[in-house]
Amino acid sequence: MRRIVIMGAGMAGGRAAVELRRRGFEGELVLVGAETHLPYDRPPLSKAVLTGRTDDTTLPLALDGVEVLTGRRATALTPGTVQTDAGPLDYDGLVVATGADPVTLPGDGPVRVLRTIEDALALRAALRPGLRLVIVGAGWIGAEVATTAAQIGAEVTVVEAADMPLGVALGPQVGARTVDWYARAGVKLRLGVSVERTTAEGLVLSGGELLAADEILVGIGARPNIGWLAGSGLVLDRGVVVDEHLAARWEGVDGPPVVAVGDVAAWWSRRYGQRLRVEHWDTAQQSPVVAAATLLVALGAEDGGQDGAEPAIYNPVPYFWSDQFRRMVQFAGRWDAADELVWRGDPDAPDPSDGARPPGWSAGWFAPDGALRALVTVARPMDMAPARRLMAAGGGVDRTAFANVDVTMKELVAAS
Ligand SMILES: Cc1cc2nc3c(=O)[nH]c(=O)nc-3n(C[C@H](O)[C@H](O)[C@H](O)COP(=O)(O)OP(=O)(O)OC[C@H]3O[C@@H](n4cnc5c(N)ncnc54)[C@H](O)[C@@H]3O)c2cc1C
Repeated sequence: MRRIVIMGAGMAGGRAAVELRRRGFEGELVLVGAETHLPYDRPPLSKAVLTGRTDDTTLPLALDGVEVLTGRRATALTPGTVQTDAGPLDYDGLVVATGADPVTLPGDGPVRVLRTIEDALALRAALRPGLRLVIVGAGWIGAEVATTAAQIGAEVTVVEAADMPLGVALGPQVGARTVDWYARAGVKLRLGVSVERTTAEGLVLSGGELLAADEILVGIGARPNIGWLAGSGLVLDRGVVVDEHLAARWEGVDGPPVVAVGDVAAWWSRRYGQRLRVEHWDTAQQSPVVAAATLLVALGAEDGGQDGAEPAIYNPVPYFWSDQFRRMVQFAGRWDAADELVWRGDPDAPDPSDGARPPGWSAGWFAPDGALRALVTVARPMDMAPARRLMAAGGGVDRTAFANVDVTMKELVAAS
């Protein structure tokens, strides 16, 4: 009987196990993870867990018939064997699902990151009225933590090296529209400020200023966990390099089939003609569907493999969401600097004075040929689903009609 090992028991690894069984793999299936938990969901860590609405985000995955080895870390890989801190594991097929780990800062200050349930519970316990919390990085996680910490009454300062939040992800015009959200929530936002190091008193900024802090949260991005694959012969380049079927490649050695999923996978996008690595929930959710199919085709008919089947293609329009400053922000697609940005609704409309939810707006990036290339929605979730379908089909909509919020996105797409 053949054995598939899934290394990394986060969302992508857990989903890969479920998909392999769903597709009929009857061999041995081993899911191995460095954490001591069953796969759990990370987005609530900076939202519901931090606000105290839940302590447990374990994913409801059907893992019966899957051998789950928690608290076990992969240390090296050779063709056919994973070395772990509790001994070797042989495999006929391998799923790499080791995710990413947060980047941190040099120094000896009271620094936290937010990646695990333990990180979230510890941060929650530390938050209190009057706490001087400095968050480094006005990215997704920084903004979400700032939202909750300010609600609790902490004195929150966010420092960001760029001259606006989210400029890389959403472009300068949209990123600039989020600056006010911080002030309105009572959060101090310092832009264009880089950090030299942390100390017991706080942050030393480049230029020498000391920014005093009781707690420091670093949210400046994550790096794929590929250290254990160094020297294995698998092709790596800021992630596990995989093709459009999510299959990895051995170089200089012959090895069994390997696929990669989730945050760690750097896949070839047929849609965008470039390699992408997207650290978002939707990738962890969807990529295992294709990777499982690819692995079973590569393994052939034995033990429920799928001999002769056409390998599937992973070709998503990337998508993610964030909840910050009482707004649900969703984004899908990829924009280009040459695209035309069209607003839908007024991004500068003031918050209602009666404490009601702020008004929603969206913005679309249109390619010169009229295709809708990317969409951001802010408190306008109803625009997203029809637009995602349109972008997946490569279509466009009339830009003047797009700018008119009285025409629903569904109607726009139907008319396109
Ligand atoms: C706080 C937070 C909030 C988020 N919010 C959102 C959101 O609102 N929207 C959104 O789209 N995305 C969000 N994300 C991103 C999303 O959660 C991730 O993209 C997703 O969790 C990636 O899943 P993964 O399984 O690929 O990796 P991971 O979840 O990182 O799982 C990888 C697992 O592999 C284990 N591992 C690592 N190295 C080894 C090794 N050598 N041996 C064995 N095991 C190993 C790790 O311990 C980990 O358990 C958020 C992420 C975080 C941290």
